[in-house]
Amino acid sequence: MDAIQEIKNRLDIVDVVSDSVQLRKSGRSYSGFCPFHPNSRTPAFHVFPETQTWHCFGACADGGDLFSFVMKKEGWDFKEALVNLAQRAGVTLEERSPANKSQEDAQRRQTDLLTAAADYFHQLLLHAPQAEHAREYVAARQLTAETQAVYRVGFSLGSWDACRTHFNSQGYSDDELLDAGLLTENPDKGTRYDRFRNRLMIPIRDINGRVVGFGARTLEKDGIPKYLNSPQTELFNKSHLLYGLDMAKPFIREARRVVIVEGYMDVMQAWQAGFQNVVAQMGTALTEDQLRSVKRYTKRFVLALDADAAGLSATMRGLQVARETLDRELEVRFDARGLVRHEGRLQADIRVVTLPEGNDPDKIIRTDPAQWPRLLEEAKPVVEYVINLLTKELDRGDAKEKTSIAQQVLPLINDIGDPIERDHFWQLLARSLGVDQRVLRQITVPQKAPRRGSRSSSTSAASPQVPPPPERRRLGNSSLSGQAANDFRQRNYLRQCFQYPQLVAQINLKLAESKMDQVSESDFIAAEDKVLLRHLYQQLSTGTVVTIEKLCDSLDELLLNRVQLLLTPPPTPEAELDRLADTLVLSVFDWRLQRIKLRNAEIEGLFSERNDPEATERSDLYQLIREGHVQIQSINRAKNAMSAVSRRRAEDADLGGF
Ligand SMILES: [Zn+2]
Repeated sequence: MDAIQEIKNRLDIVDVVSDSVQLRKSGRSYSGFCPFHPNSRTPAFHVFPETQTWHCFGACADGGDLFSFVMKKEGWDFKEALVNLAQRAGVTLEERSPANKSQEDAQRRQTDLLTAAADYFHQLLLHAPQAEHAREYVAARQLTAETQAVYRVGFSLGSWDACRTHFNSQGYSDDELLDAGLLTENPDKGTRYDRFRNRLMIPIRDINGRVVGFGARTLEKDGIPKYLNSPQTELFNKSHLLYGLDMAKPFIREARRVVIVEGYMDVMQAWQAGFQNVVAQMGTALTEDQLRSVKRYTKRFVLALDADAAGLSATMRGLQVARETLDRELEVRFDARGLVRHEGRLQADIRVVTLPEGNDPDKIIRTDPAQWPRLLEEAKPVVEYVINLLTKELDRGDAKEKTSIAQQVLPLINDIGDPIERDHFWQLLARSLGVDQRVLRQITVPQKAPRRGSRSSSTSAASPQVPPPPERRRLGNSSLSGQAANDFRQRNYLRQCFQYPQLVAQINLKLAESKMDQVSESDFIAAEDKVLLRHLYQQLSTGTVVTIEKLCDSLDELLLNRVQLLLTPPPTPEAELDRLADTLVLSVFDWRLQRIKLRNAEIEGLFSERNDPEATERSDLYQLIREGHVQIQSINRAKNAMSAVSRRRAEDADLGGF
């Protein structure tokens, strides 16, 4: 990961801005007096933790990300900001070695390919005549159009080479398609063909929203396998990923807990019902890496397991036996002992709830959403859950059975670091089995793994219940996915313009013909992109022929790295530049539409916060929303005004020509 992203991951814009601006939480955002213009009556300056952006709705009408805030506040250039923020975040800035660089370039190219593939499959789901049955399937699952768009749900054609042909024509080689897991190779014959055929495509994104692979559900009755995943790659590592985390993270922080379910559909269904702190494990037992990736947002985990996956007692016992013989990670979905150890090492509070037989979260939320939060409240600490599970059908008269249960549960209890908690579960087990505690303590259990780590605080059953957080949210927050789409559009604009600087003037000309502003720094959110655009314009304004080498010469080393990353995707042949300019103009329209929609949603969010009474009286904000609507109309008009021919041509190019 590059240093800029790492810094953004580690620092919270709210903390950084709070150093110099007194912020007050108002609902989902923070407000204060703008440090960049005289303003002392109404707080015009807002920070949005979800998108990690800031915006002044007052005189400056400016906004951006963490970097652009400190650059503006301190008068730093990009490099100064980078050095200072890196220090604050504890990120070491290293000069990239050529080996690292080429590896990063390849990785970037692969995520670009996967992102493009997600878009390709999504467009097929929406428009392809062959996708009728797939559309019926998502309709039957009651996924709204918005949910489908937010998660980029897609469809792969029932063909052996449609995907391959499409991306070959975009300049990707078969080797690259194979590495990205879009092609499969027959090891005997050496033939290569599309991995995903006639499947519902669910892009899997990492914590930063980059597409790293796919989960693909069969659309054939009794199709095998039901879910086909991308192959394991460096990017797509199932033991590190949690599905939906990129979208859920701000909501996890806000709800102060994360709910872990089993399926992609469960996550999407929960999201659209307003339960947005839900993620899915990836078909294996939860790993410590997965839990660690969430730990930044909360230490309270709830596992909502399907009844069959809860591993009922048979699986529990099978697991214990397997563990003693193999003592290594197995492909099981519920690993109680692992969880207890993770809990200790992470100082977390992990609870488990089993859903009623025959139900999964998807079904419960669709049929009776009110049942969902009630079920979660019933979640029990792991050890208590296991004790309940094993003793549920215990015949009190069966002494051998009692011994067997004790021998399974005691290792779990022994893994608990905190002595008070340990004692609590000794007592619980004794009561559940109807035996004396002293007897239990005489049972010797072979101690397989040494206890590691210790718990500094007792967080589970022994401590009083924390009141349940407000987990249900308003529907309709797609700001994160909207921003991701814009990042992609803007990166594409920059990379094409760095490749073919003459495009800048062509695009601006077309924008002017449509009576639209030329592309400017205010179009961009990320500080590094603003800076890159400035460099591009400076070079062009000298009136000399701009070459990439010349551009690169004028750039700081760190920005240079970013430009070089931007340069890696497939260049478009020069002959088609005009067509490319059309595509990019459309893309500028789209990102501006998205920006205005996001901004209006942010402003509307300010109104609906009950604890910000001032906002509702702010006619200047209403004015901004009205202006936004006017802008949306004129952009849409401009889009329509581009001649039908060139528009169709441009859209074809944008979708890669299907
Ligand atoms: Zn301002």
